Amino acid sequence: MIVEKDKVVSFHYTLKNSIGEELESSRERDPMSYLHGAGNIIPGLEKAMEGKKAGDNFSATIEPEDAYGLRNEKNVQRVPLKRLKGVGKISRGQILNVQTKQGAVQVTVLKVGRFNVDVDGNHPLAGQQLTFDVDIIEIREASEEESKHGHAHGPGGHDHG
Ligand code: ZN
Repeated sequence: MIVEKDKVVSFHYTLKNSIGEELESSRERDPMSYLHGAGNIIPGLEKAMEGKKAGDNFSATIEPEDAYGLRNEKNVQRVPLKRLKGVGKISRGQILNVQTKQGAVQVTVLKVGRFNVDVDGNHPLAGQQLTFDVDIIEIREASEEESKHGHAHGPGGHDHG
């Protein structure tokens, strides 16, 4: 069985940035599971998975356009502190949930001033070239329900609980 549309793939990964720093790894926990062909993972990684078999390991370097996108400087905004009351002390680097007209968005605090906070709504990995070291653990057929939902269920997959 190979990785193709409507297969559920379990894999371990280590994610590194362009200077080789490790950002994230699944290896200390359960492998991650996703439904192939449903856009559950970043496009560049999904493409690199295509046609692979259980037991394969490979490394894929993915440009920002096929990962978390390019940075958009319009997503860097100055927010009045009074709009953030109730979140406690705010410090640089902190991730906050901010209510906007489009709903809640996650932002990273860049700078805290007396009256305003500069926040960055870009994904923390936007604009970065990423390298994934991947081990494919298991490939199985998706259930009808999984195909319908557009994601994998079970360990490492989507939890409806
Ligand atoms: Zn579901």
